[in-house]
Amino acid sequence: MKRYDLSPADGLFGPFGGQYIPDAVKPVFDDIDATYRQLKDSPAFRAELHRFRRDYIGRPSPVYHARALSKRYGADIYLKREDLNHTGAHKINHCIGEVLLAKHMGKKKVLAETGAGQHGVALATAAAVLGMPCDIYMGTVDIAKQAPNVLRMKMLGARVVPVEQGARTLKEAVDAALDAYMQDPQNLFFAIGSVVGPHPFPSIVRDFQRIVGEEAREQIVGQAGRLPDSLVACVGGGSNAIGLFSAFLEDEHIALYGVEPGGRGTGVGEHAATLRYGSPGVIHGMFTYLLQDKKGEPAPVHSIASGLDYPGVGPQHSFLHDAKRLRCATITDAECIDAFHELSRVEGIIPALESAHAVAFCKTLAEREPGSVILANLSGRGDKDIDYVQEHHPRA
Ligand SMILES: *Cc1c(COP(=O)(O)O)cnc(C)c1O
Repeated sequence: MKRYDLSPADGLFGPFGGQYIPDAVKPVFDDIDATYRQLKDSPAFRAELHRFRRDYIGRPSPVYHARALSKRYGADIYLKREDLNHTGAHKINHCIGEVLLAKHMGKKKVLAETGAGQHGVALATAAAVLGMPCDIYMGTVDIAKQAPNVLRMKMLGARVVPVEQGARTLKEAVDAALDAYMQDPQNLFFAIGSVVGPHPFPSIVRDFQRIVGEEAREQIVGQAGRLPDSLVACVGGGSNAIGLFSAFLEDEHIALYGVEPGGRGTGVGEHAATLRYGSPGVIHGMFTYLLQDKKGEPAPVHSIASGLDYPGVGPQHSFLHDAKRLRCATITDAECIDAFHELSRVEGIIPALESAHAVAFCKTLAEREPGSVILANLSGRGDKDIDYVQEHHPRA
């Protein structure tokens, strides 16, 4: 009997998760759930997914023993190299899976919102290779800031839909994408970008990311001759973290660390450390920890890593946190920048600012547990961040 059941039929992880959505769309989500359950074990679907993972994404991604970094930090650090995937991060793992699912369901178009553009680019890529039309909703402030990603999405054949409402950033883009989806949920597929949202999305996205942990488990045993003492991953919505963790959940002696962005400090709007400072409530169709104001509205958040500045977190993380299986850690913007430069100089790997949070925590953990074996998820590469870092935090 498994102690941590992450595949409950009702999508409830303890009290967390569920479907906080209008009754009118429940049948659509139940249909996605039913189809997915049938499909996921079908040999044809598995073969197709496997082919894309191997020949398109480039899986398995390696586990790399970072010897120079290990020497500096004083523990044995292994990095799961999701930065080496096609498009440079773990997001392609679930985007390929979601678009395959949408196609099998006979959906006519996939859509999603994007903030910095990472989810938009990964989804546009999957939609291109699978021949699926794709609409990406994006606030006009973000469009102006993220010119290269906007260009990428367009080149990949996606339609970028500018959102002019309110602050014209991620929150308004989510609302606009949801509005568009509600017009025709039968024919559209809302491709959620992390292990968040109403059931069954946290479970579906988790299943598509599980491969990260399954590969890493075999790889580290092959290289280190044993399982790691701890796992480390950054947590925005939580997809790269749960992907790695889910293959090790039942090994209670292995510590799991979810690294949240401590940003500039502990004040409202200065960080996005949801598990550490948040409280349970409803956001984006799920019950989970969130950073909220007195009315239950999502609070403003900040992180130097745009992929981490989300006021909620996946329901599986909330469950594992309350069960004391998942430990949470915070890393500030400044610590993240140090790790970004250090990994670049010492190992020749420029990490995404999101992933640099995980690397930074490896240093803290190594000080606490010298000589231990740490496996960290390097969720993405930092090419997207070099201009920003050079302008604001140069070391060159
Ligand atoms: C989007 C992103 C994240 C955060 O998303 P999760 O769902 O928490 O994994 C982390 N790292 C990179 C490189 C990203 O692009």
